[in-house]
Amino acid sequence: MKFRYILFDADNTLFDFNAAEREAFMRTAEEFGVPPTDANLALYSGINDALWKQIERGEVTSADMQRLRFTRLLEALGVPGDGLQMNAAYVRNLSDCGMTLPGAREAVERAKKSHTVAVITNGIPQVQRSRYGKSGLDAVFGENIFISGELGASKPSAEYFDEVCRRLGIEDRREALVVGDSLTSDILGGVRAGIPTCWVSFGRPLPDDPPAVPDYIIDDVRELDATLS
Ligand SMILES: [Mg+2]
Repeated sequence: MKFRYILFDADNTLFDFNAAEREAFMRTAEEFGVPPTDANLALYSGINDALWKQIERGEVTSADMQRLRFTRLLEALGVPGDGLQMNAAYVRNLSDCGMTLPGAREAVERAKKSHTVAVITNGIPQVQRSRYGKSGLDAVFGENIFISGELGASKPSAEYFDEVCRRLGIEDRREALVVGDSLTSDILGGVRAGIPTCWVSFGRPLPDDPPAVPDYIIDDVRELDATLS
């Protein structure tokens, strides 16, 4: 067997984060008098993505991100309101959204038959724990759920991956595989940590100058079996 440990990213690898974000944003927008439109979702999503990229680079903290994302949205739209309160409502709404991608749960269950499986995710613990519970994935992964907000470090940092390896008892990192959709957090983090990587591309071509080059590329997690055999 090539690998003993499979480390799955959560959002947009196992979970349909785009659907969850849409649902949670639209609900929250209505509560706070922001028109729940596709344009406003795109504006929010751009602000949020930029802040998460800053977290990946170690430039802002999770607390900064939660303080800033809706404050910036309300400012951009000229809508009065408290961004911190809006963030709290969004976090509550997002916690309810545990939609998984088609075939994702089954792919994890197949991998689990002959591997140790774990979740490696950058996220807010309250949100992620609730979503894993709603999806039933908490039972599949058991204790092997590693949320950046609980570990005190985020992907792609070496500290994050070192801690995951320590907790799982991984000694030879070549026996582990990182599976994820993000080149800047999952693949870059895996490459830096000396762990083989599998990029979930959803058909996207590898960019000309990628932040890191994955060892394997699959369209979605349903194709993982071929990489593991
Ligand atoms: Mg992801």
